[in-house]
Amino acid sequence: MCIFCNLIEGKIPSTKILENDNFLAFEDINPQAKIHALIIPKVHIQSFNEMTPNVMSEMTTFIQEVALTLGVKSDGYRLITNIGQNGNQEVQHIHFHLLAGEQLGRLV
Ligand code: 5GP
Ligand code: ZN
Repeated sequence: MCIFCNLIEGKIPSTKILENDNFLAFEDINPQAKIHALIIPKVHIQSFNEMTPNVMSEMTTFIQEVALTLGVKSDGYRLITNIGQNGNQEVQHIHFHLLAGEQLGRLV
């Protein structure tokens, strides 16, 4: 079972930010900004390549709720999902990084 599936089941501890029946948001163990959340579906989907429009649609609403919960919606934030080898995806369970809480450096 993958590391994030274990985390969903509580076999690995995490600091939860928001949860519903289908999604979980928790703090990244190695934060790259003052606020660094990871947002995942509870169903195991490897990456954005395997994502379906239905799950993505629900996840959009959940991510917006996470931004509201963290109080970063108006000041702004960045969403990143790394995909595959060239994308430097380390955990093979799709996750969105939400980075916020400070002025972020420009990437693109
Ligand atoms: P990726 O490189 O796959 O896009 O990102 C994986 C992220 O998962 C990294 O930012 C890493 O710090 C985080 N991570 C890996 N293992 C754990 C863990 O056990 N707990 C938490 N909270 N984050 C983790
Ligand atoms: Zn998984």
